[in-house]
Amino acid sequence: MQLTCHFLPQNDGRCGWYETLPPPPASTPLHGEVKADWVVLGAGLAGLAAARRLAELQPNAAIALVDARRVGFGASGRNSGFMVDLPHNLNSHSYTGDQSADRKLIQLNRGAIDYMREIVQRHAIECDWREQGKLHGAVETHGLRALEAFAKGLAALGEPCRELDAREMKAVTGTGFYRAGLHSPGAVLVQPAALVRGLGATLPENVRLFEDTPVREINVGNPHTLVTDKGRLKAPRLVLANNAYAAQFGQLGLKGRLLPVYTYGSLTRPLNEQELADLGGEESWGLIPADPMGTTVRRMGDGRICIRNTFTYNPNVSTGESRLKRALVAHQRSFDRRFPMLRGVELEYTWGGALCLTRNGGTPFGEIAPGVFSAVCQNGLGLTRGTISGKLIAEYALGVESELLDIMLEQPKPQLNPPEPLLGMGVRSTLAWKEWQAGTEL
Ligand SMILES: Cc1cc2nc3c(=O)[nH]c(=O)nc-3n(C[C@H](O)[C@H](O)[C@H](O)COP(=O)(O)OP(=O)(O)OC[C@H]3O[C@@H](n4cnc5c(N)ncnc54)[C@H](O)[C@@H]3O)c2cc1C
Repeated sequence: MQLTCHFLPQNDGRCGWYETLPPPPASTPLHGEVKADWVVLGAGLAGLAAARRLAELQPNAAIALVDARRVGFGASGRNSGFMVDLPHNLNSHSYTGDQSADRKLIQLNRGAIDYMREIVQRHAIECDWREQGKLHGAVETHGLRALEAFAKGLAALGEPCRELDAREMKAVTGTGFYRAGLHSPGAVLVQPAALVRGLGATLPENVRLFEDTPVREINVGNPHTLVTDKGRLKAPRLVLANNAYAAQFGQLGLKGRLLPVYTYGSLTRPLNEQELADLGGEESWGLIPADPMGTTVRRMGDGRICIRNTFTYNPNVSTGESRLKRALVAHQRSFDRRFPMLRGVELEYTWGGALCLTRNGGTPFGEIAPGVFSAVCQNGLGLTRGTISGKLIAEYALGVESELLDIMLEQPKPQLNPPEPLLGMGVRSTLAWKEWQAGTEL
């Protein structure tokens, strides 16, 4: 079986998290033929966790980890940096709701946070790791209702949270924009590109990392052969951790089931002393919107503010200049609404990044062809889900049993999408409608 990678990772704007880090040391692209026991495609959170866990479990195995770009350049370094323990949509709306599904997802997410915390501490990875939880903010009436439902769900699950009124929200965030909020303590906030780069720099010795090495073709067989511009990687076992780019692999049953969707971020320049004084509030916080189509905001300890919103359907897994310009306009509008005291603070970086979603929130986790294991598709929550998918796919492939693995294997498989052009029309119009409904939550 031959898979062709028509869509390769592109630049997709300038990511502030990546650009504000010092330049990385020179990369080691693949040259010539390399044989390994395992090859992992994609060095995002899922691929890094898979390669690390394989190496931990098989210290004598040779593991090759390959990425088209530098570690930290892809979606795993482009996100808003919320490692969330709670699912955004709780099933437990009431005391009679399905609490066991929520509890299992929380267990998976906390498994990811625990695994990551241990790595970050052991290797002293500098990624602004903050165990400070997250705020949920609401502005519109439907946002307030969503917040109320979320609080009820948390109460049903016995999960702690603190409800905040408009005055308390202002005391934390400096802005009087939010009518109400809620603080849940379990999320960890990170500088995502720093985290991912740190993970790449501290891989076990039996992992060879090949960056700047786009894989053009995969011949699935025994062994599998990954063809790159200047070489070939051969291994009997392959782990796919290439996010939405896997949607082009029809022969593996992934095409037609995954949804490549983009979302966009912007980062301001650092605020000066006067601007920080005008803003007020706490030095560092992260807020997700009560309406899922709304705007995520983070204030960083270094005085920058990050804004994320807008979703688009991108079947080619890339975005263009005009789309990035429109995202910047949307970000500036959202920023100005929230921070009228910071008029004139420019958004220095704007970027997009790929999410891999499925219609039913399902995942193609598992062995999808002989010797081909999938850790793709994090349904928008890659910091925790990507980490745990990567760790667990390694354990699954090596027959290591655990309660977390059972939970992962219980997750539904991705539903089939309608064919194009119906799919594109449907996704685009749903996104536009929901964005319009979000109103000033955006
Ligand atoms: C703006 C934004 C904000 C977000 N905020 C959050 C958040 O706060 N919390 C959260 O949990 N999630 C968030 N996400 C989602 C999260 O970033 C993703 O779910 C996660 O990064 C996916 O991880 P991954 O390892 O599966 O994929 P990726 O990080 O995309 O890794 C896949 C890798 O495969 C490589 N690759 C693909 N094709 C090839 C090829 N042919 N050859 C070689 N290499 C290839 C790519 O270069 C890439 O590095 C956000 C995403 C964006 C874009």
